[in-house]
Amino acid sequence: MKILLPDRRETSFGCSAIVKNWTMAIDSELLEILACPACKTPVTLVNEGTGLRCGDCRRVFPIKDDIPVMLIDEATVEP
Ligand SMILES: [Zn+2]
Repeated sequence: MKILLPDRRETSFGCSAIVKNWTMAIDSELLEILACPACKTPVTLVNEGTGLRCGDCRRVFPIKDDIPVMLIDEATVEP
């Protein structure tokens, strides 16, 4: 039955494409905007796109549901 619904399949494909584009947006444009709230250092994408790392204070901010969580309380510090 699902094969007879090509529109639906295209829709779900479009959704994953949007997620991919969003990840790419984090990688390029957003990274220029995002900075560590503690020391204002620009962050870099780490852990296969699931975290944003500050090169200065080494805090790693999580990305939850494709949304960067730039909160000091949510960050983990990597050695
Ligand atoms: Zn920092």
